[in-house]
Amino acid sequence: METYAPCPQCNAAAAQKVNFTWWGGVLGPRVLKHVKCGSCGKGYNGKTGRDNTNGIIIYSVVAGVIALGLVVVMFAAAVMVIFVSGR
Ligand SMILES: [Zn+2]
Repeated sequence: METYAPCPQCNAAAAQKVNFTWWGGVLGPRVLKHVKCGSCGKGYNGKTGRDNTNGIIIYSVVAGVIALGLVVVMFAAAVMVIFVSGR
């Protein structure tokens, strides 16, 4: 069993691992050590015991940039394929 830092809101040590979140899917909560308080339900960083809001914002921005980058790369590749096969 993993032990987590106590809840920053109510100080309870009854955190549970979060497997899926709307902001990070399956990977986000793993990356940020996101846990949920079993007492008040607050989500926070189970390693540092602090609010994960900043981490969530950073994660969302990074994930957004990566997703955008993938779209751009795929678009460029598609254009390239069309350009090459059009000759
Ligand atoms: Zn709590």
